[in-house]
Amino acid sequence: MKNSLAAIDHYIHGQPVANTSGRTQDVFNPATGTLTGRAGLADVDQLNAAVAAAQAAFPKWADTPPIRRARVMFKFLELLNLHKDELAHLITAEHGKVFTDAQGEVSRGIDIVEFACGIPQLLKGDFTEQVSTGIDNWTIRQPLGVVAGITPFNFPVMVPMWMFPVAIAAGNTFVLKPSPTDPSPSLRIAELLKQAGLPDGVFNVVQGDKVAVDALLTHPDVKAVSFVGSTPIANYIYETGAHHGKRVQALGGAKNHMVVMPDADIDQAVDALIGAGYGSAGERCMAISVAVLVGDVADKLIPKLVERTKTLKVLDGENLDAEMGPIVTKAAHERISGYIALGEQEGAKLLVDGRGFDGKQAGEGCDGGFWLGGTLFDHVTPEMRIYKEEIFGPVLGCVRVKDLAEAVDLINAHEFGNGVACFTRDGNVAREFGRRIQVGMVGINVPIPVPMAWQGFGGWKRSLFGDMHAYGEEGVRFYTKQKSIMQRWPESIGKGAEFVMPTAK
Ligand code: NAD
Repeated sequence: MKNSLAAIDHYIHGQPVANTSGRTQDVFNPATGTLTGRAGLADVDQLNAAVAAAQAAFPKWADTPPIRRARVMFKFLELLNLHKDELAHLITAEHGKVFTDAQGEVSRGIDIVEFACGIPQLLKGDFTEQVSTGIDNWTIRQPLGVVAGITPFNFPVMVPMWMFPVAIAAGNTFVLKPSPTDPSPSLRIAELLKQAGLPDGVFNVVQGDKVAVDALLTHPDVKAVSFVGSTPIANYIYETGAHHGKRVQALGGAKNHMVVMPDADIDQAVDALIGAGYGSAGERCMAISVAVLVGDVADKLIPKLVERTKTLKVLDGENLDAEMGPIVTKAAHERISGYIALGEQEGAKLLVDGRGFDGKQAGEGCDGGFWLGGTLFDHVTPEMRIYKEEIFGPVLGCVRVKDLAEAVDLINAHEFGNGVACFTRDGNVAREFGRRIQVGMVGINVPIPVPMAWQGFGGWKRSLFGDMHAYGEEGVRFYTKQKSIMQRWPESIGKGAEFVMPTAK
């Protein structure tokens, strides 16, 4: 934990760089509410300096054999494993999530680095011998140039690692613009990459806000932008980046449902709802925020859910007994509290109200922190704003439906389509659900089905703008362009000009 106020600035061309804009954003420890640092907010000149460093480093890095780029990733992987807990403590100090959850976040990031270590295999092209007599044709994938990542507060290590390991291993150079809410882990990552032998300028970090983002989106040397954050900003990034000729993948917000069928194991479903609804204080894009209770499930499940929500261990994230930590900022705390009041006004039944939670219960020194307990609503209906909008906090709403068809129609009508789960013992229900649901990531008896490093992550509908998912093979495709080469040697060339469309001979 930090005990003195730190200037948390940029990392450009292999060096920490002090902010020069004169603009900063305060960084807090959400558990105590204390100011711990100030993130510099870059101006256009500093952003341009980072892009220039990345552009200068690109030709040599792109020419470095993939296996040598992979060796840097292997060394980085070793360092990440050594410094895993240090990174997790940095996350807890600025985000608030419980330490064991932060360790899990770092682990899921490490998975992507392991995937990126296989880049020589992933970049292998296709070769066809003799497409016409004496002619061969093959494809290769080449890096794009400078690529950028713009990331949210809720996974300050894992989400950047959805992007840069694959981008860099594929031969691109990178500018990361993390969330200024929890900016420190990005700088530690930059140091570890340098220690792993990454040449200066290949990975740069610019702390900032809309000023830096807009400069990235319009910069002619930035060839692709990966974004993860809320839907309105994802939409803006996609449109603006595309308008300026960039490749864009922009992952947005979510409202994830979990269907509980009458044949499901009720205790397993309660465990899943509690963990996926309140883990990381509901501040996960794959958090479950709606329980869809089919038939008579509600009567059996809700009393157990109430009991578990009331007895959640809401503690300082550094306490190893903690199940849930604080809310990330005061502003987020106010927004979520506002949604709880709105739910009552809209007529949902408030079964557990997290607003009364007193930080003193969370640990010593926590009374000034941004604390809420778990909140549970029943009788939520589709017209309510607490159903339609992403609350992004520890608020779980229950919707009652009569059967599977009604559950599927409800979910398919929602504007978001990030994650979804169905709890059942019936194989046919599971199969039908998986086929019919209009959501990008589906869990059958798995509440948070975040795909593994080699599968690729992405939602549907207004949860993803662009057509390429993050990481996995789609990630490799996103960060490379395909070139086809067709070749023959003078010995196989016949005499005379050909005026007809060439065909196989
Ligand atoms: P956010 O949209 O406020 O910020 C994301 C990034 O955009 C940050 O780097 C921020 O500095 C920048 N930004 C914010 N406002 C901007 C503006 N007006 N113009 C340009 N850039 C701007 O999101 P957040 O609050 O940091 O993160 C929470 C959101 O992220 C939730 O909506 C959550 O669902 C979403 N999220 C989605 C995924 C996914 O994979 N789909 C994963 C994690 C988080």
